[in-house]
Amino acid sequence: MFIQGKSIILLLTICKNAYKSIQIKDGQSNFGYTEEEIKNIFLRPRSTTLIGKHREFQYILLHGVLYTKEHLSRFGFVGNNLCSYCNQETETYKHVFLQCPIIKDIWKEMILYYDLTEIQNMEWADIFVGLSGSSVRIKFVNSLIILLKYVIFKSRNTGILPSFNPNPIQGRI
Ligand SMILES: [Zn+2]
Repeated sequence: MFIQGKSIILLLTICKNAYKSIQIKDGQSNFGYTEEEIKNIFLRPRSTTLIGKHREFQYILLHGVLYTKEHLSRFGFVGNNLCSYCNQETETYKHVFLQCPIIKDIWKEMILYYDLTEIQNMEWADIFVGLSGSSVRIKFVNSLIILLKYVIFKSRNTGILPSFNPNPIQGRI
């Protein structure tokens, strides 16, 4: 079918605006990423990991539709909104994936074990969206970031988290 010039412009405008509506949401922070950065952030999980479940998890997280107790208590599915690990603070993304004292220790262990100098300052934006760059090293770091967040999320009910301590006597591996 022949599409007239005006129709093509309209179609392009619709596509462009649809893309603009995509935002990075954690429910708290204003990240202020440019359109180009957002595009890269959404493409990142695909180039980072081959594990479908990890990619899917990161996409859902970026869209802000991964449900923590903060969401579930608002919907009335759970009795409180407290963190599944420390039971002290509201279970927001930022808290449960990074700021929780129990979780923070796991990040420190992983950073030390794999010598992840790129994320040693543990900035929330890096943990939430991953690092920019396309080197093998950056992809490796990003795959570990997604992996640990996935394990943190999936372990909320059991409360058992991995340890990166290689010492077989003290280690919890
Ligand atoms: Zn906590």
